[in-house]
Amino acid sequence: MKRTLFNEDHEAFRNTCRTFVDRQLRPNQEKHIADHAFGRDMWLEMGKQGLLGLNIPEEYGGSGVDDPRFAVVLAEELAKLAFAYSSCVGIHADCVAPYLVDLCTEEQKQRWLPGFCTGELVTAIGMTEPSGGSDLAALKTTAVRDGDDWILNGSKTFITNGYSADLVLVAARTDKTKKARGITLFAVETGMPGFERGRKLDKVGQPESDTAELFFSDLRVPSTNVIGEINQGFIYMMERLVTERIGAAAGNLSHARQILAETLDYVKERKSFGQSVGSFQANKFRLAELVTSGEVAQAFVDACILQQVTGELSAVDAAKAKWWTAQVQNEILDACVQLYGGYGYMNEYRVARAWTDARVSRIWAGSNEIMKEVIGRDLGL
Ligand SMILES: Cc1cc2nc3c(=O)[nH]c(=O)nc-3n(C[C@H](O)[C@H](O)[C@H](O)COP(=O)(O)OP(=O)(O)OC[C@H]3O[C@@H](n4cnc5c(N)ncnc54)[C@H](O)[C@@H]3O)c2cc1C
Repeated sequence: MKRTLFNEDHEAFRNTCRTFVDRQLRPNQEKHIADHAFGRDMWLEMGKQGLLGLNIPEEYGGSGVDDPRFAVVLAEELAKLAFAYSSCVGIHADCVAPYLVDLCTEEQKQRWLPGFCTGELVTAIGMTEPSGGSDLAALKTTAVRDGDDWILNGSKTFITNGYSADLVLVAARTDKTKKARGITLFAVETGMPGFERGRKLDKVGQPESDTAELFFSDLRVPSTNVIGEINQGFIYMMERLVTERIGAAAGNLSHARQILAETLDYVKERKSFGQSVGSFQANKFRLAELVTSGEVAQAFVDACILQQVTGELSAVDAAKAKWWTAQVQNEILDACVQLYGGYGYMNEYRVARAWTDARVSRIWAGSNEIMKEVIGRDLGL
């Protein structure tokens, strides 16, 4: 089905993104896999091409685009090559950017946004801790005031870009007597004494991106690095998770639908019992189901994106889009592996990598269970 939410400008931007993917990422993908990192050269190249500061005002070096569809286009094109690319770039350009633009002081914006746009300052966001991620309000990292500074102690885990980031937004407890209303956001610059990174975590999939544990021991953060108001951090995160979740939904579908298209080509060529694998009725019907489920999910996500454009998208609808597309993505990719047979289990085939890459989409940025919790609460349950 033809999608109707994009205009000529979005499609021209899509061509720019595709060119970047084909010229810069595709030839370097094996290197990124071996390094477990996207590489600073890629961040700088993205900065040069204006791909990192889409939503950042022009006076700080961004494009000042007030239209989330451009970020969706970028996420879709990156995910078509590898899911890790849309996730590590998405964390920086789509998730962290709104915190910096909406909540930072003028001095903070001057300090961080120009480097954010050029790729000289790579960012991450640290919410999840070893003790738990779903119950964000129970986080244990503390920040205690000491004169004009704050002293941070604790750790974060599974942090995307955690190994390469120059600046991490860290959620820490500033009031032990309160749960959600006792959390504040701090911008931790990673050269600060008391900041340490663990190794790059060995993930099941998405080897092109770095994911790390972060440790804070008596880390002194000046008040000038507090993001927004004290004790408002949880509310800030909840407000901005809507953007993260709809971006994730767009990436989930683009990733799965690309591999499905490649699988369709494969099953037309691959022969068994003297005929193409795709022509067996069982497989033909399975593919018909997968294509239908991808397109139907796309229609819902596109409607959500249009609501995001007009500022009407609710957290509940974003939660529906996130869990449903994660489910559809995983179902599609599992079936694609099956249709490839033994080759589908070999890492040299894109379908195999895509299958392992996708598994996390039902877990991160709010698991499917937590998304259903959000929806269930809205049903008055
Ligand atoms: C590759 C990767 C990248 C990530 N990147 C980041 C990042 O950049 N920044 C960041 O802060 N975090 C990041 N995360 C963390 C991610 O958001 C968490 O893993 C996720 O929120 C789940 O938290 P948890 O792993 O602690 O699981 P837990 O919270 O321990 O949950 C375990 C299981 O219990 C279920 N569960 C929990 N509560 C309920 C409930 N009320 N009802 C039903 N089931 C429930 C969960 O759904 C899950 O299945 C990343 C994770 C991964 C794997």
